[in-house]
Amino acid sequence: MKKISIFGVTGSIGSSTVKIILLDKAKYNVQVLTANKNYKKLAKLSKLLRSKYAIIGDEKYFLLLKKELKNTNIRCLTGRSNLEKFAKIKTDILISAIVGMAGLRPTYNAIGNTKLLAIANKESIVVAGNILLNKARRLKTIVLPLDSEHHAIFQVYKKENKNNIKEIILTASGGPFWNKEKINFDKITVKNALKHPTWRMGKKITIDSATMMNKLLEIIEASILFNLDLGKIKILIHPSSLIHGIVNFIDGTSHLIASEPDMKIPISHALHWPERLNSNVKNLDFKNIKNFKFYCPNKKIFPSLSLINILKKNDYNKSKIITINAANEVAVDYFLRKKISFNDIIKIIKKTITLIKHININSINDVMNIDNKARNITDMIINRKI
Ligand code: NAD
Ligand code: MG
Repeated sequence: MKKISIFGVTGSIGSSTVKIILLDKAKYNVQVLTANKNYKKLAKLSKLLRSKYAIIGDEKYFLLLKKELKNTNIRCLTGRSNLEKFAKIKTDILISAIVGMAGLRPTYNAIGNTKLLAIANKESIVVAGNILLNKARRLKTIVLPLDSEHHAIFQVYKKENKNNIKEIILTASGGPFWNKEKINFDKITVKNALKHPTWRMGKKITIDSATMMNKLLEIIEASILFNLDLGKIKILIHPSSLIHGIVNFIDGTSHLIASEPDMKIPISHALHWPERLNSNVKNLDFKNIKNFKFYCPNKKIFPSLSLINILKKNDYNKSKIITINAANEVAVDYFLRKKISFNDIIKIIKKTITLIKHININSINDVMNIDNKARNITDMIINRKI
């Protein structure tokens, strides 16, 4: 039996993981399941998977969770410190599927305590990838990216000599607005921005897809995971989301990784690593594919993509990346609460980068320090205090 914990079990990635486990439940011994507020779903999944622990991040929901689980042997816990502590429980696999910076400490703590760490929480990799990967190397934890593009490229990359690789291409669905040059981006509503054409995901990543911040974060994620210069990572819009990543070799060969846009595939691969088993997702039926198109993104309608230029200058890069990530999280939250417009998101991020005093980043504490400062500055910009 494989011991497994899922951090962020109630989200989109968490729920897809549960579906894969349910294909052969007897194989898994479920340890820790966590959620932030959705105590009902956490209780339901904890009972379904007979987990040892159920942890609700937000303390307001602790008593409600306890009530839901009162006639079971499942131990209920709450609070950020328990999320961090119980990431250290020994497991074979830990799925890191909390959204945003809240996932960083649990992800960091899991290393050395789990044999395989499958990371969907891209924000952790973006802000502290090198720190995480160094710790994983030292303590012999296998790290697998679940982000579909990175998971795709990882499968080709690990078998190849890095000198033979010319560049990699991450594909992007483009979100709902990639070909809507004529619409007024200031008038985009939350409802329209949440209508993703191909993927069903949590709200934060869906807004990131609409602004294409998601691709900026993914370029940074890829540069850390594959130890590549930013200039060797390209993006192409591929609206049908059937090709997830492309590796171009120096001899003119390209490897393309294709599948239905369904996160159950990378999750299943991680759960059975290094083998593969049926994930209940069909292979593509190539003879029936009509829409197999690729386009360059229009940087005029996606100012997020120009943020990469700030990172090409090479001074205080890590601090700037943490700032971009933090400012984006705060701004997206305000947009979702209808307090700022769609266009404001990237303007606010740019302003935060200029107002922060950047530092060299050497530890998780440094990461948290800049993250906190950036959040405060973004908040003040939005509330017109600076
Ligand atoms: P989601 O919003 O559906 O779920 C997020 C999970 O995190 C929930 O279980 C929620 O309870 C928990 N959570 C939220 N805030 C928290 C906090 N402050 N403390 C503790 N727990 C908290 O998000 P998702 O779409 O499943 O995405 C999860 C992560 O995976 C994100 O980093 C996202 O970028 C990445 N990712 C998702 C997809 C996808 O298809 N959904 C694809 C690639 C990468
Ligand atoms: Mg992705």
